[in-house]
Amino acid sequence: MPSPHLTRDDAATRSTLLTVRAYDVHLDLTGAQVEGATTFGTVSEIHFDCVEPGAATFVDFLGASVEEVELNGRSLPVADVVDGQRVRLPDLAARNTVRVRATGLYSRSGEGLHRFVDPADGRVYLYTQNEPADCCRWIPVFEQPDLKARFTLHVDAPADWVVRGNGAETGAEPSVGGAVRHFATTEPLSTYLVAVLAGPYHAVEAQHTVTTADGPLPVPLAMFCRASLAEHLDADRIADVTRAGLDFYHERFGFPYPFGKYDQAFVPEYNLGAMENPGLVTFTEAFVFRTEATEAQVQARANVIMHEMAHMWFGDLVTMRWWDDLWLKESFADFMGSASLADTGLYPGAWVTFANRRKAWAYVQDALPTTHPIVADIVDLDAAKQNFDGITYAKGASVLKQLVAFVGRDVFDAAARAYFREHAWGNTTLADFLAALSEASGRDMGAWAAAWLQTSGISTLSVERTSTGARVHQDGWDPAIGAAMTRPHALAVGVYAEEDGAGGGPGALGPARRRLRRVASAPVELASASVDVDLPVAVDAPLILPNDGDLTYATVDLDPRSLTTALERIEDVDDEMARTICWSALWTMTRDARLPAERFVTTVARAGAAETDDGVRQMLFTQALTAVTRYAPPSTRAELLSVLLDALAALVRSTGSLTFARLFTAVAAHGGGQDDLLRSLVATDAAASSGTTASSGLLASLAANQDLRWAALVALAARDAVGHDVIEAELQRDPTATGRRHALTARSARPGTDAKREVWESVTGDRDLSNELVSAALRGFALIDATTAEPFVEPYFASLTAWWNERSIEMATRLVRGLFPPVQDAVPGQDPPEHPLVRRSARWLSEHEEAPAALRRIVIEEQDSLVRALRAQSAG
Ligand SMILES: [Zn+2]
Repeated sequence: MPSPHLTRDDAATRSTLLTVRAYDVHLDLTGAQVEGATTFGTVSEIHFDCVEPGAATFVDFLGASVEEVELNGRSLPVADVVDGQRVRLPDLAARNTVRVRATGLYSRSGEGLHRFVDPADGRVYLYTQNEPADCCRWIPVFEQPDLKARFTLHVDAPADWVVRGNGAETGAEPSVGGAVRHFATTEPLSTYLVAVLAGPYHAVEAQHTVTTADGPLPVPLAMFCRASLAEHLDADRIADVTRAGLDFYHERFGFPYPFGKYDQAFVPEYNLGAMENPGLVTFTEAFVFRTEATEAQVQARANVIMHEMAHMWFGDLVTMRWWDDLWLKESFADFMGSASLADTGLYPGAWVTFANRRKAWAYVQDALPTTHPIVADIVDLDAAKQNFDGITYAKGASVLKQLVAFVGRDVFDAAARAYFREHAWGNTTLADFLAALSEASGRDMGAWAAAWLQTSGISTLSVERTSTGARVHQDGWDPAIGAAMTRPHALAVGVYAEEDGAGGGPGALGPARRRLRRVASAPVELASASVDVDLPVAVDAPLILPNDGDLTYATVDLDPRSLTTALERIEDVDDEMARTICWSALWTMTRDARLPAERFVTTVARAGAAETDDGVRQMLFTQALTAVTRYAPPSTRAELLSVLLDALAALVRSTGSLTFARLFTAVAAHGGGQDDLLRSLVATDAAASSGTTASSGLLASLAANQDLRWAALVALAARDAVGHDVIEAELQRDPTATGRRHALTARSARPGTDAKREVWESVTGDRDLSNELVSAALRGFALIDATTAEPFVEPYFASLTAWWNERSIEMATRLVRGLFPPVQDAVPGQDPPEHPLVRRSARWLSEHEEAPAALRRIVIEEQDSLVRALRAQSAG
């Protein structure tokens, strides 16, 4: 069922007309445990005022049916007032009460009230997910962020279940089907933030007391996961991060945590990393590590915990008026996620991870033709849904990092404190934050905001060596308006050389490698196209880095000498952040067809493993795999795949590292040799790896990791090296929700048109397949070569509109992205836009100009990525 099509204009009209005071909501979840249950009861009583008595409005509800509508004591005929997903309310009074009794549908797509049956024990779990506008799938509401109201929830559910809401439980009483729990009335909340968790969840409780200016503030903590995952929930470690975060945000924001308790629930089949429901944060249960986790995974989880906690202030306490200003919460939370990890000392290298991973996401998105300003133009909810992207999150966070470099951290914090004080429990726009920032900094920040928040595209920084130092240039192009742009950058230019200042050179390579250290770093204010920096030491240095320390948001073009240094001896650079900027520059050049993919791949194969940050290592090898599969010319692809695979195989054998083993299986799914190593990762007994070497011991311990076993099986299936029976046997060994998902990926990975057609029919035809299982199948399907994919090209373009119209936006998005035909081989001498697949995609776009903008956006982005790949293949 499609999402509600509320437009910005509808929302503005409604919020001019109404003030919503309170909701009283009754949910009947007593039938949830019945096998195959599809519906539940929901009653919403809304108290609201209207400035124009006699006017009409509507409540949003998207469910099975509406049974009863009563407005101001008068019953309205359901057949007359229910119109699709709107319940029309005519002839309003100044003060109104509407009561809607309805039947909701349990979700299988992760939107609304999701119902999940645990294959491990048959137990039923429920949770809600609303953003941007799915509260109306389980409560009849005025679905828009600026109609905040107090919510009081009553939930009737099986008596032995755990039930949580945004507010604390205030009481319970027995009911026919179990027990009714009553929850405390909340502070004013936007509808997208209302949440319920219900099921036989495993719970761990803890406590924290924050020291505030007004004295100690106790915050009860609780963590939840499915019962079958209980033994894997490392609640102590999660609570430690949570406590550090609460202390950190109190110190920086100067506004006490406003939502009482702090629950964190890890839930199944979750569509995103996490959601900042006030007092009841929900997370993907991928963060409950059932097998050994990599350092990068543990750090990523800590980052998400901090990100969601930042939202308690940026987003929940003060909320954007409409989705145009989504950045007012997401950019800030993304920035705070890394800032908190770095400043609390939990992960001192958090900004390196950010530079490497989050910024890479932003640079990719910001080069697409669909990019947009950080402050976006969001006309309706479909557009809102698409806007949770690399611009709103990662670019926004990068620009806030630049803002801190520009005005200073004290000014930034003072602005945030004033903003919370002034707008607590309200809604804001860019203007409100700018006012606080201008006040705190004592200068007009309008020009800064116009240059950074209201333009699109990436600035590129480069350095030209001069007789006295360096000249820093910026180039920028705003693809949204098709014009050049210049931004004010506060940055640093760093110079790296051997300690004695000598340049070194090829002779420095060898057993006694000489490290390259930062010998100078000059702060630069770059407000125009270029600026000269007096930096004599730079004249003859092996490496000069604009954006040293990664203060600003810009890609870097290395000068020829620095490029040679980066390619030949990046591992000699002492500073982790400096290496990250070099890697980023190499990757950008590869994607832009200015560096042959081969150079990137061989550099990663040689030096990637020397990186100290686990997340960075993972990212580099993943980028190298993309370089092989998309950007390398067909003639070199097989050889480069082997280079990468062999490098990883050697690392797995010598270190037993889980990170390298995971990367090895991901690369192996695309072919190459190393069959023996793959098989030893799924060995079921000691005999298969019974050697006496240290290496075989390391392999045996890896083969005990169930998730890694699945990854190796997927690779073997993609190579057609295992049959159904092996996959089924593994599923017997691991009959869990995760096992079921992996098994589906493995089955879907099998090559050949018949196998792929089976997957196609299942993901496009089986409406009972949940969000997570659809994605699991698509991951396997994606391991397909261009020839096998050929018969699916026409059905793909023929089905797009139907998918979009008939499925929820979440499910449709997965299909449209996941089934876009794979990258094909560039034809020598042919301009990429002339390639048959590009032409086919362009034809669909020209024949469907009226198609929903959100659907067109995905096709445009996929087509652009394809053209980029074809161009890069020609760069070799
Ligand atoms: Zn967020």
